[in-house]
Amino acid sequence: LVARMRPFGTTIFAEMSALAVRTGAVNLGQGFPDSDGPPEMLAAAAEALRTGQNQYPPGPGIPALRHAIAEHQRRFHALTYDPDGEIVVTAGATEAIAASILALCEQGDEVVCFEPYYDSYAASIALAGAVRRPVTLRPGDDGRYGFDPAELRAAFGPRTRLVLLNSPHNPTGKVFTPQELALVADLCREHDAYAVTDEVYEHLVFTDAASGHVPLATLPGMRERTLRISSAGKTFSCTGWKVGWVSGPAPLVSAVLRVKQFLTFVNAAPLQPAVAVALALPDSYFTGFRDDLQLRRDLLVDGLTDAGFDVLSPEGTYFVTADVSALGGRDGVDFCRSLPERCGVVAVPTQVFYDDPEAGRRLVRFAFCKRPEVLTEAVTRLRGLA
Ligand code: PMP
Ligand code: GLN
Repeated sequence: LVARMRPFGTTIFAEMSALAVRTGAVNLGQGFPDSDGPPEMLAAAAEALRTGQNQYPPGPGIPALRHAIAEHQRRFHALTYDPDGEIVVTAGATEAIAASILALCEQGDEVVCFEPYYDSYAASIALAGAVRRPVTLRPGDDGRYGFDPAELRAAFGPRTRLVLLNSPHNPTGKVFTPQELALVADLCREHDAYAVTDEVYEHLVFTDAASGHVPLATLPGMRERTLRISSAGKTFSCTGWKVGWVSGPAPLVSAVLRVKQFLTFVNAAPLQPAVAVALALPDSYFTGFRDDLQLRRDLLVDGLTDAGFDVLSPEGTYFVTADVSALGGRDGVDFCRSLPERCGVVAVPTQVFYDDPEAGRRLVRFAFCKRPEVLTEAVTRLRGLA
């Protein structure tokens, strides 16, 4: 194995899901829903399979899907992208992130990101031979995760090539406010850096968040330097389909396509018309999905609090992080490894998403994209810990 990949072992999601299968525990680790997405979307996929849409689709994605992606961004964010040249369909957000970084970063270039970060970020940066410059998100007195503006400013320098921003943020549930985004945008412009934005949870911002979801690309001077990434997996409860996309100015998107064609060439044909159908669903689908997840969030947050965890209620995503100190936990990894045996529940230690493990030493993440009865069962089991 090449040196640049040696620091990366099996992903924590695979390890914890395997632990859940082995022990029969309730799996609140890896983030995937336990019910299917919109029936219209599932029917469209079945229809596409039956009607022979089973050969290589065009490299950037089928036109119907690219048009639907453009229309969806216009509807929800007043962002305009040309479906022919400014949008590329990818194998999930994961490929979009990797292809964007590989397309933009030279060896030794620096990528500013916020830690804890989604695990593929560090690996994609390493594959490109680039260097990550993490800025730590910490729980604040206002009950939200925040960052020190001076620390963010100090992370930018002459080698900064891009900032990789995930909002709504996995695993903290933070939704970056317009003020926070304005600072990121100022620094990008000041340093002539690009932005790659991971917005896979764009439709999961709860009604009590400090602000709604604002794409960084909507800030002044940012559209022309931003690759905006999203995915069907979260919004339409189909994480196994791996249909994602990148939108941005034509020169940047064409650079991504250059890389993408040699990573996966094209993506699963029959799923593309189905995601196009889903993206065109009425607004009520998207708000209903959010409201449903907000109830589940409350169920889990209340249950974890009752069970003795120290919890920050997330503003978005379908994850909640909890501090295990009050339950006598000193290390999240040890805590998560023993949790199935102690009470039959699986969670993910947040520590592995930091360059500085100390910053997340006692934090663990629970997913609430599960049926209410599953969450209730998990909470009952966790109460037994106290
Ligand atoms: N980014 C974040 C923040 C995620 O939580 C995930 C996990 N789904 C991904 C990217 C990957 O998305 P996909 O499954 O579409 O590749
Ligand atoms: N995005 C999901 C999570 O954060 C699953 C990711 C994965 O398994 N790679 O749990």
